[in-house]
Amino acid sequence: MAEKDLTEMYACMGIEKEVYAYGNEILAKLESRFRKIDENAEYNQLKVIKAMQESQVSEACLLGTTGYGYNDLGRDRLEEVYARVFCTEDALVRPQITCGTHALALALISNLRPGDELLSPVGKPYDTLEEVIGIRPSKGSLAEYGITYAQVDLLSDGSFDYEGIRRAINRRTRLVTIQRSKGYQTRPTLSVERIGELISFVKGIKPDIICMVDNCYGEFVERTEPAQAGADMVVGSLIKNPGGGLAPIGGYIAGKRECVENAAFRLTSPGLGKEVGASLGVLKDFYQGLFLAPTITAAALKGAIFAANLYEPLGFPVVPDSRESRHDIIQAVTFGNPEGVIAFCRGIQAAAPVDSHVIPEPWDMPGYDARVIMAAGAFVSGSSIELSADGPIKPPYAVYFQGGLTWPHARFGILKSLQSLVNSGLADLKSLKM
Ligand SMILES: *Cc1c(COP(=O)(O)O)cnc(C)c1O
Repeated sequence: MAEKDLTEMYACMGIEKEVYAYGNEILAKLESRFRKIDENAEYNQLKVIKAMQESQVSEACLLGTTGYGYNDLGRDRLEEVYARVFCTEDALVRPQITCGTHALALALISNLRPGDELLSPVGKPYDTLEEVIGIRPSKGSLAEYGITYAQVDLLSDGSFDYEGIRRAINRRTRLVTIQRSKGYQTRPTLSVERIGELISFVKGIKPDIICMVDNCYGEFVERTEPAQAGADMVVGSLIKNPGGGLAPIGGYIAGKRECVENAAFRLTSPGLGKEVGASLGVLKDFYQGLFLAPTITAAALKGAIFAANLYEPLGFPVVPDSRESRHDIIQAVTFGNPEGVIAFCRGIQAAAPVDSHVIPEPWDMPGYDARVIMAAGAFVSGSSIELSADGPIKPPYAVYFQGGLTWPHARFGILKSLQSLVNSGLADLKSLKM
């Protein structure tokens, strides 16, 4: 009887019986995979609690400071907690770090000096880093400070080009940047294990190279984090996984004491470093968000896997595919035409708790070479740990989506996206051979 009520509830939210039933058929096959995700979440939940207990987080830590922020107990304790969770010597976790790109730019510019070279051995980094590095000329880029950049692409099968990397490392190579997530590319996401292999190789050639990992979207997907595989610095955004949907802003840099110290002196000022930087009123959300992050990441992961399994049998290519192991929370679905991308995003938007009545349209956006459509009905503006999707209106007409603070919302959003495609005649459940 309960099942019938749920069907009715979905029907009243615009999901037809056929779409709901198809979703259930897919879900039935995912039980054992979902159980593993829940076990990981449980493991990581304990890890976070252990870190908070060992750092003796207390009620006073949840309060903030103003002004200079001297003696900000909660801020300092939170950074200790992050260092424990990410298995590093130290961490910088601040609302003054405005986003992921800022955190990465800060980690780079503070640990590199004129004459140094930065190397990416995993191909082109995330779009916004092109201007940070100076691949696309920009004011204040590393290039303007005389820091050069070298890149070695992955081989066509997604493996590391070890020979190319060996050739690229030279006397000036000071820092290696490794992006864990595929971002908006179709290369595979890197597991912590593979990142570890790459770091060992790099350090085998030149032990004093700083190995930095762009950890965006990867936090809590596995039981280990990149520093456990040898990374000197891990960097990410608090409006993605580790903010748990509650952090309203912020970024983190966790790593070797010296690397974090360099970043702190650059974020505030030489001589001041970590000692200043009022936490204002965000600490309770930073702590509680980190506490929730393992289960929220699990919800997002289930959503990604559900979508891959839902769309693949309908003939839409998905990356990662329905069976692949997961190392980040991003899912790509290729529709092959603009209408599919638009219908998908409109479905996601229509499932949102905020701005569900808004109909997204493709738009020219700064920094992109094609129109982009975005679906986001988030409590925190631009938050991509919340259910969100976007797709550039250009071949192969793929949509990238991620997030979902709860599994029921992720499930509803994805069903809504499919319903939107069905309503537009772009997906046909009758064609299924299952
Ligand atoms: C999101 C992301 C960034 C940049 O983060 P913003 O908060 O959008 O500036 C960098 N690298 C990767 C892999 C990302 O996913």
